[in-house]
Amino acid sequence: MPENYIYAEELFKIYKTDELEVVALRGLDLQVAKGEMMAIVGASGSGKSTFLNILAGLDTPSAGQITVGKRDLLRMKDEDLVDYRRREVGFIWQQTGRNLIPYLTALQNIEAPMILEGVKRRIAKARAQELLTAVGLSDKARRRPNELSGGEQQRVAIGVALANQPPLLLADEPTGELDSATADEVFRVLREINRSTQVTVVIVTHDREITSRVDRVVAMRDGKASTELVRDAESSDVNELAVVDRSGRLQIPREYLDEANIQRRARIDLTDGKVTIKGE
Ligand code: ADP
Ligand code: MG
Repeated sequence: MPENYIYAEELFKIYKTDELEVVALRGLDLQVAKGEMMAIVGASGSGKSTFLNILAGLDTPSAGQITVGKRDLLRMKDEDLVDYRRREVGFIWQQTGRNLIPYLTALQNIEAPMILEGVKRRIAKARAQELLTAVGLSDKARRRPNELSGGEQQRVAIGVALANQPPLLLADEPTGELDSATADEVFRVLREINRSTQVTVVIVTHDREITSRVDRVVAMRDGKASTELVRDAESSDVNELAVVDRSGRLQIPREYLDEANIQRRARIDLTDGKVTIKGE
C-alpha cells in the first residue's frame, strides 16, 4: 500500500447559525494515497463540499483529525493556511465563470497564478503553453473565456489550478454544468494529467460514470463515508462495498435496513468467518 497522503479520521464540521446547528460532517474517515485519483459521490447535503473546502484550506474542521502530507489542518495558523492554499492545492469550481478571469486569454489565465508567485514572464509563458497542450487546447491560447465552450473553459481551469504545480488537485462538481460527452472529456484530461504528473486528485461529482475514470469512488451519506464503489480490474464490474471505520462501525445502507426490518437493535452472528446481521 502506498502511504496515505490525505488522512481524515473522525472528522466533524458543525456550522452554527443564530438559531440552529448543522452537523455537515459527522465522523468522516477517509484516506487517499499519494498520486491516487478518487471521486466522492453522494446526495446533495451529504457533506461533500464541506469536506473539499476543508481539504482546500478554505474552511476549518470542528473536531477530529485531518492531515495532508505533513500538514495538520486542524492546528494550522492563519498564515500557514494561506501558504497551504497557495502551494499545496489547486481548486476547480463547478461554475466555469468562477475559475477564469474573463478579460484574460486562456494562456494569460494560466500565466496569472505563476506571475503572482514571482515566476519570470518567459518561464510562465512556456509553462502555460505546456499546460494548454496537456489539456488539449494549444490552438485556443488567444481565446477569452466567452469564446470557449463550457468544457474548454473547465480544461483551461485545470491548467490554472496546476500552474504552480500543487501536489493536490481538488474539483467540486467540475462537470456539473456540462453535457455528458463534454464531461467525459474533462475527466479524461484529469486522468491523463494524474497519470503523467502523479498529482493527487479528489473530485466531487454526481456523475456515476466517474467509476470508469478514477481509481476509487467513495459514497458519502449524512456526513460520513458509507460505501466504496470498487471496479473489478478483470470484469470491470462495479461492486459497492460497505466501509468499516477504525472502531469497527459499519453503516448499513437504508435499503438493507428496511428490507431486513432492522430498527433499533440488531443481532450479529459470526460463523465460519461470515458475519450475519439480523433485526431484533
Ligand atoms: P454537498 O456538497 O454534499 O451537497 P454540503 O457540504 O454543501 O453538501 O452541505 C452539508 C450540510 O451542511 C448541508 O446541510 C448544508 O446545508 C450545510 N452547510 C454547508 N455550508 C454551510 C454553511 N456555511 N453554514 C451553514 N450550513 C452549511
Ligand atoms: Mg456541494
